[in-house]
Amino acid sequence: MKIGVLALQGDVREHARSLSDCGVTASLVRRPSELEQVDALVIPGGESTTIAKLARTFAIFDEISARIKGGMPTYGSCAGMILLADNVLDAIEGQETFGGLDVTVRRNAFGRQVDSFESDLIFSGATQSPVRAIFIRAPWVEKVGLNVEILAEVSGHPVAVRQGSIFATSFHPELTGDNRIHRYFVDNVCQQAIAQ
Ligand code: GLN
Repeated sequence: MKIGVLALQGDVREHARSLSDCGVTASLVRRPSELEQVDALVIPGGESTTIAKLARTFAIFDEISARIKGGMPTYGSCAGMILLADNVLDAIEGQETFGGLDVTVRRNAFGRQVDSFESDLIFSGATQSPVRAIFIRAPWVEKVGLNVEILAEVSGHPVAVRQGSIFATSFHPELTGDNRIHRYFVDNVCQQAIAQ
């Protein structure tokens, strides 16, 4: 399976490195022709409004949205989670998302940049031992649809969710060197999509 990292803005290289630690050579995706070459996509953290605008500029926005809704395994972290959500609270005027994930997220829910924090949390998707999670102006999930599975929470707020082929975390596993979250995406989300 070929996995791409959306390379418009944000911590693209860190995600590519985490995937390579899982034995996957990721390709960088900026243009529709590059999206066509991949079977799965990672949408990195960064700034959701900027990534959406650049996706329009690079004329790849509608293609990404259609592929996600067509079942392409997709993992979004932080800004990537916002871009996957069907509904966003505290969005800027006119903010667009690719959508596909039946959740409502709240942008910057944990506070401003200075309120960024790290936490050990139980990620029920992969392992019983806690995962170190870094939250940087992170969103949380405020409401989930019927088919959305909650995989981790902080203070009662979902911060890792999955709906079939779509997986999202509020936090940044690509910054910790612990690649269990990427491994879950590769070995679980992507493999299940292949099996179907
Ligand atoms: N607050 C950012 C946004 O709304 C996300 C921050 C991040 O990805 N670290 O896009």
